[in-house]
Amino acid sequence: MMPGARPSPRDLSFLPKAELHLHLEGAMRPGTLRDLCSKYSIPAPSTPCYDSRSDVPMPRSSTTSRFADFSAFMNLYLSACSCLRTEEDVRRLVLEVASDLRECHVLYAEVAPSLTFYAQHFGSMESTLRVLVDAAAIAEKETGVLISYVLSVERHLSVEAAIELAHLARRGSEMHINGRAAVVGFGLHGPEESFPPHAFREAFEIAHGEDGKIASLPHAGEIAPARGMGAKSVVDAVHILGAKRIAHGVLAKDDAEAMRMLREKDVVLDVCITSNFLLNVVETREDHPIKYFLKEGVKCTINSDDPLLFGCNILSEYQLCRDVLGMDDHTIAQCAKTSFIYSCAPEYLKSKGINGVDGWLSEGGDDSCVTRHDARRC
Ligand SMILES: [Zn+2]
Repeated sequence: MMPGARPSPRDLSFLPKAELHLHLEGAMRPGTLRDLCSKYSIPAPSTPCYDSRSDVPMPRSSTTSRFADFSAFMNLYLSACSCLRTEEDVRRLVLEVASDLRECHVLYAEVAPSLTFYAQHFGSMESTLRVLVDAAAIAEKETGVLISYVLSVERHLSVEAAIELAHLARRGSEMHINGRAAVVGFGLHGPEESFPPHAFREAFEIAHGEDGKIASLPHAGEIAPARGMGAKSVVDAVHILGAKRIAHGVLAKDDAEAMRMLREKDVVLDVCITSNFLLNVVETREDHPIKYFLKEGVKCTINSDDPLLFGCNILSEYQLCRDVLGMDDHTIAQCAKTSFIYSCAPEYLKSKGINGVDGWLSEGGDDSCVTRHDARRC
């Protein structure tokens, strides 16, 4: 290097990552949604949340592109589910998702399908899961990206439906994708308001089983179940549902007891910054508490949630952590390592990811002033 020359920032696109919070149908490419809507004569969603002319999700940075409420978000999500009707549709979706993950240098992903909403086209939820398992095996051979599934309860459906899904998750853990368990986690998503976790305790106990093969990975602490109950929903997800990682969890930030519990029980938050901004969980991206959690010893991973709906991907979320939140490379790399260590990936893949992150860090870069955020101060 020339004397006095500043090294370049490390390229985040080469940082190995695991994506641990990704909804399958919410990761559909805009062009695929448009094609499938046309194929089945379904009106394409008319919201401004994605550019229907483009194959690439459009970044949405302004508050005008926020969702009015969670139901507006769900309606768009359901439109993506409604056009999955054949094995060909599902295989296309899973292959494209894996290809897009590879572009972000994701080695492993835990993907949550909402098969409840389109299982009627495949005969049963179990036959739908089998289609998804086959699709992931094909996608892995073509892209090298390992996909495992997280079956997730829809909060607003019945407790009986949750228990049925838990039994399916157990059977799914016996299905295999290129030799490893197809289902590795059991989740809980949908509107938190009016649907706290208590009702789903039995379903989570069934899924977890005595062998603990299936991890508890519920959403919590995103939108409070009731006024002022956001942190409690995080605590309940751990105490009642046995959460190992929590999708979002950001509402724990104002509650010392919830923070202490997350730290002591070593529960990881699978954070999605753009999602939290566009669903009005945080006022601005800069307000996102990921740095606070990390400073307080609560581990976090960085994820995209629903690229179709939020116009982001995991790479742009990592970039946002650097450019907008001013996170340094060591902190960013620690989040990437956490994504491997606390995943349900095979051990060899965890080691590969961790070693890859160390290699990325050792490439150098300008640790003193690598971000636009820091550059303003330097
Ligand atoms: Zn989510």
